[in-house]
Amino acid sequence: MADGPLGAPTDPALRAEIVDNVRRYVAREVLPHATELEHADEFPDDIVAAMRDMGLFGLTIPERYGGLGLDLLTYIGVIEELSYGWMSLSGILNTHTMLALVLLQHGSEEQRERWLPPLATGEKRGALSLSEPDAGSDTRSISCRAVRDGDEWVINGTKAWVTNGERASLVVLAAKTEAGVSAFIVEKEPGPKFEGLSVSKKVAKLGYKGVETVEMSYADHRIPAGNLVGELGRGLPQILAALEVGRINIAARAVGVARAAFDAAIGYAQLRTTFGKPIAEHQAIQMKLAEMATRLEASRLLTRSAAERKMAGQRCDVEAGMAKLFASETALELSMEAMRIHGGMGYTEELPVERYYRDAPLMVIGEGTNEIQKLVIARGLLARARGDVRD
Ligand SMILES: Cc1cc2nc3c(=O)[nH]c(=O)nc-3n(C[C@H](O)[C@H](O)[C@H](O)COP(=O)(O)OP(=O)(O)OC[C@H]3O[C@@H](n4cnc5c(N)ncnc54)[C@H](O)[C@@H]3O)c2cc1C
Repeated sequence: MADGPLGAPTDPALRAEIVDNVRRYVAREVLPHATELEHADEFPDDIVAAMRDMGLFGLTIPERYGGLGLDLLTYIGVIEELSYGWMSLSGILNTHTMLALVLLQHGSEEQRERWLPPLATGEKRGALSLSEPDAGSDTRSISCRAVRDGDEWVINGTKAWVTNGERASLVVLAAKTEAGVSAFIVEKEPGPKFEGLSVSKKVAKLGYKGVETVEMSYADHRIPAGNLVGELGRGLPQILAALEVGRINIAARAVGVARAAFDAAIGYAQLRTTFGKPIAEHQAIQMKLAEMATRLEASRLLTRSAAERKMAGQRCDVEAGMAKLFASETALELSMEAMRIHGGMGYTEELPVERYYRDAPLMVIGEGTNEIQKLVIARGLLARARGDVRD
């Protein structure tokens, strides 16, 4: 890979300029509308059109396939800014980017030339479909099946929790074959139904609104033999490797939400007066602000360090897990602390703090729950201690 998320580092000045552009766009066009769109659970068509115009759908796709070819640090900077405005916006990009990454790392040149250019422009949007009703943490229990029939694969089964599933045109699907779980690209038209494939349920969620998360059912759905990505039976390690970047992405998302919660808290603490002075002058509130800011900074540094390690081509299962674990718990804690600092106002729909509080828990669950992160971290540490793993 000459350029792209894991390729040559982006010039720091260009990185800063891109992230700053997104920050200014979020301040101008997202923050004034996010709460209303979120409460209406409305897909943000205008914002997504602007994200396309800014090239964000191809941010990490190499230039030779029509993308911007920017590095992982630029990507996490953009994800933090989008999430600062509204966490769902980063969800619209995340599985799209993961699909492109799976293609870049494991697809054939023919597959990359075919699918990456329309993904880069956002003409086609992507989804990633690993989980099932009975297979979330336990990916070995995947039961959706792909059976070879001449020049085609025939897919049967139900996949759960497919974010972007309805609007996506391309889905990277994990399905069981005789050789083990394999990765396939499913092509479809955006919408609820497509020849042997249907959206069987839309999930009503606590937060993460606007972006759809759906259940998808496959009933003798046929795809060309050439849509198998990478080696037969190696789908799980291929997709899980992309999810290492996915975890760094979730950490960046958490930093964005935590920062929004902190900014709301420190702003309100200076405005709200009790007992004759702004609450920011009460030591109990100052303690909270100091703890919050420290955790926020630590989350950002862990996230950045995991991204740098990944970009340097080093193993980063431990570091990506640590960043995701710490940053997501921080987002959860800071959204609660921000609500406390707002008193009764924090519990109303008039201010965005209640949204941060509803969005934050997803990051504790998604891309592998935090319990699973701890297992991944511990296994990685033990392997390093035994000298089983080299950087
Ligand atoms: C809004 C939303 C969007 C999502 N989007 C996608 C998507 O786009 N694509 C996709 O493929 N998936 C997606 N997911 C699925 C997500 O990745 C799973 O929910 C997650 O991996 C957890 O799986 P589960 O829900 O089956 O929980 P379970 O695996 O049933 O876990 C239940 C509890 O048991 C704990 N647990 C399980 N096993 C162990 C163990 N060995 N040791 C200790 N504790 C354990 C878990 O930590 C958790 O606390 C999404 C989920 C949500 C909520």
